[in-house]
Formats: sequence, C-alpha cells, structure tokens
Amino acid sequence: MSRPLLGGACLLILSLIASKALAQPPQLLTPPFSEAPKPAKIALVIDDVGHHLRHQEFLDLAIPITIAILPGSPHATKLATTAHQAGHQVMLHLPMQAQGQQTATEAGMLSASDSLAHIELLLDYALQQVPHAQGVNNHQGSYLTEQEQSMAWLMQALKQRQLYFLDSRTSAATVAEQQALAHGVPTIRRHVFLDNQLQQVALEQAWQGLLELAQQQSQAVVIAHPHPETLAFLKAKIPLLPTESFQFVYVSELLN
Ligand SMILES: [Zn+2]
Repeated sequence: MSRPLLGGACLLILSLIASKALAQPPQLLTPPFSEAPKPAKIALVIDDVGHHLRHQEFLDLAIPITIAILPGSPHATKLATTAHQAGHQVMLHLPMQAQGQQTATEAGMLSASDSLAHIELLLDYALQQVPHAQGVNNHQGSYLTEQEQSMAWLMQALKQRQLYFLDSRTSAATVAEQQALAHGVPTIRRHVFLDNQLQQVALEQAWQGLLELAQQQSQAVVIAHPHPETLAFLKAKIPLLPTESFQFVYVSELLN
C-alpha cells in the first residue's frame, strides 16, 4: 500500500468518526443511575479463645473471623498461629481489672495501680504469647476502662506498637475509645454481645438485633464466645444471610 493511499484511508475513517460524533449528542460519562445499596458490614469477634484446642472449630466458619486470644491460656500461641495461617485476624484479649476486683486474679491482668512501665511489661509479655496480633480488646475491665490515666498509658503503648483497640464496653462509663482516639490509636466499639445467654430464643433475639443495627449503622461489631451452642448457632445462621445485604469483615476494616 502506497503512503498517499494510506493517508486517504485514515482521513476517510476520521471523517466518518467525526460525522458520527456530530450526529449524536454527547453522552454523560456516568449516567445518573441509582446504585444498589452496599451490604452492611459485620465484624464477628470470638472472645476468650485459648483454653481449649476445640476453639479452632470457629475458624472453619466460611467468613472472616477476628479471634481474640487470652494470654496465659494453655493454647494461646498454637491457636494464634493456626488462625493466622488460616487467614483470619488475631487479636490480643487483654485481661483488665473489673469492678470489685481488688487484685490480679487472672494471669497478666492490667490493674489501676500499674505504672506505664508495668503496663508495657504486661502488654509485651501477652503479645509474646499471642503472635500475629493486629489489635487488642479488653477481657472484663469494667473498672480499668473507666480510669483515664490507665487508658491513656495503654493507648500510648498501643500506638507505639501500631496496634488497634476494640473497646469491648464492659462498662457504660468506659473512656477507652475516647483515649484511643486522643492518642491516634485506630479504634471501634463492640455493639452487640451475641451470647450473654445461650438459650436458642436469646441467641435469635441478639442475632436479629445485630442485623437491624448493622443495617441502621451500615456496620456493626459483634462479640461472641467459644461455646458449643454459639458455634452451632453461627453454623446454622451465617449461610442463610443474603450476601447482597450483609458482608463479614475483620475488625481492622471498621476502625475509626
Ligand atoms: Zn473476655
């Protein structure tokens, strides 16, 4: 093909494109169609993990699970490693002083009399036993989470270690979330306890409450415990949830 002929062909194509463009009004790049609503996000946390190897059965639920492991429990390290290898998220379930608790009754428990240095010591010891932890939530702690100074020191320590904090909210007067925000620690609170009562009717009620709240807020954090009844309930309920309405995520995906 000679050059002038190629040039002529190009011109012809260009003029055809131009005439087509002129014949049609310009189209909007993004037509103003209404988007389908996004699914509400739910982060499911299993607390108090570590006393039994059977706790790893929760990892077989076919959704992202954030597994909160008690330091000082006999299977803490093994379960943290297994959860991490299975692609789930590991959290340190840090024991903290409860109302009416005078002294440390649980191994490694943080108390109001602890200095910053002692809090860091307990935290680092706990983190050694729970490898792969990306965040921390409180085990009990209805007294300690109300103490501004203790929470400020804890958040300072978490910030340094690049860990997030989930406030389990075992006290309505907790200042943990507020102190986390003040120290630049990514944080969120627990919205629902699923299994404070293990009867089927109570679990159903808590589950419905969770789904409603998740839709209202577009996200929710639910804490459950490694009871056989809870596992059976979750195994039955999770597959029934419409994926266009609900999406399970790790706690780290919902942080403020
Ligand atoms: Zn706990």
